[in-house]
Amino acid sequence: KNENGNYVVTMIPGDGIGPEISKAVEDIFTAAKVPIEWEYADVTPLLRNGKTVIPDEAYHSIHKNKIALKGPLATPIGKGHVSLNLTLRRTFNLYANVRPCRSIPGYETPYKDVNTVLIRENTEGEYSGIEHEVVDGVMQSIKLITKPASTRVARFAFAYAAMTGRNHVTVVHKANIMKLSDGLFLQACQEVAREYPNVRFDDVLLDRACLQIVQDPNQYAHTVMVMPNLYGDILSDLGAGLIGGLGLTPSGNIGRDASIFESVHGSAPDIAGQNKANPSALLLSSTMMLRHMRLFEQADSIENALLNTISEGKFRTGDLGGKASTTEFTDAVIKNLA
Ligand code: NAD
Repeated sequence: KNENGNYVVTMIPGDGIGPEISKAVEDIFTAAKVPIEWEYADVTPLLRNGKTVIPDEAYHSIHKNKIALKGPLATPIGKGHVSLNLTLRRTFNLYANVRPCRSIPGYETPYKDVNTVLIRENTEGEYSGIEHEVVDGVMQSIKLITKPASTRVARFAFAYAAMTGRNHVTVVHKANIMKLSDGLFLQACQEVAREYPNVRFDDVLLDRACLQIVQDPNQYAHTVMVMPNLYGDILSDLGAGLIGGLGLTPSGNIGRDASIFESVHGSAPDIAGQNKANPSALLLSSTMMLRHMRLFEQADSIENALLNTISEGKFRTGDLGGKASTTEFTDAVIKNLA
């Protein structure tokens, strides 16, 4: 807390629709009188000694505050800069990415009562960024799985399951094909499972998990799924699709040196600057952040206002089939604050 009795949180507005949706969150936080002061950080990447780094000021802000809320960052495709999201994950050791997907009451999708929680290993696997050209026309990309990183994310998944009362962990893998790398991930989870005799534990192959989730997501409503990086990236977008799209899914990057909360979606360049974006995903990420900070009352109040606004159906953004602008939707949420 600072001298005014407020918590200081780093805000990274991000690219594309980022500034519009982060303004919506700020306005709702102000209206809800959340005891937070934002410290803005520009994370435009710099190249230092051939490595992508974030500006010192942003680094110090996140390091000092330990908590940040982040809008989407556009990642240039191809050579040059490493993804800035990856840089942030590595810089702050954000080893676990928590992605819940819950149906929004009143917003109809083909699936009712989706309630999944996915924990993605966030630092290695297929996204280690180790790629090279072997010979002309042959590229190699290395999937790196280590025991310490696997054990760390497994521990987090079990602790999360025990803390939230789900009491069940399912590891999602392809150890039948990638016997050594995914095999090690699975083994790490099995070892941690022994430390949690009261938490049920099982495993499932990734392809089977995809099939089961689209057939009946309820099968995964009582477990915490944990998996290597790429699988988590893909499976969480699948989950987003079940509940109505990327405009609704939050995430938290939990780390050793800081925790950064962000929407799952990207910078949506197709609708940027048009006051059309749905701020719900970033807002739900911000309520995850408030719960992480133990500000439960404010989190509940904001989340209820958001859910009520969507289920009333009068002010919905275009991605949810409505006509409301970002600012009209935001004003409706503010009116619904208890
Ligand atoms: P995207 O998520 O930006 O957009 C996919 C589709 O979903 C688009 O049609 C977009 O308009 C829509 N959409 C996304 N968020 C929305 C919202 N809040 N409200 C309404 N509609 C929304 O994915 P993309 O187009 O593949 O990626 C664009 C850029 O974002 C790329 O540079 C990519 O690297 C980056 N990206 C960043 C992150 C991140 O920062 N965490 C995540 C994914 C993609």
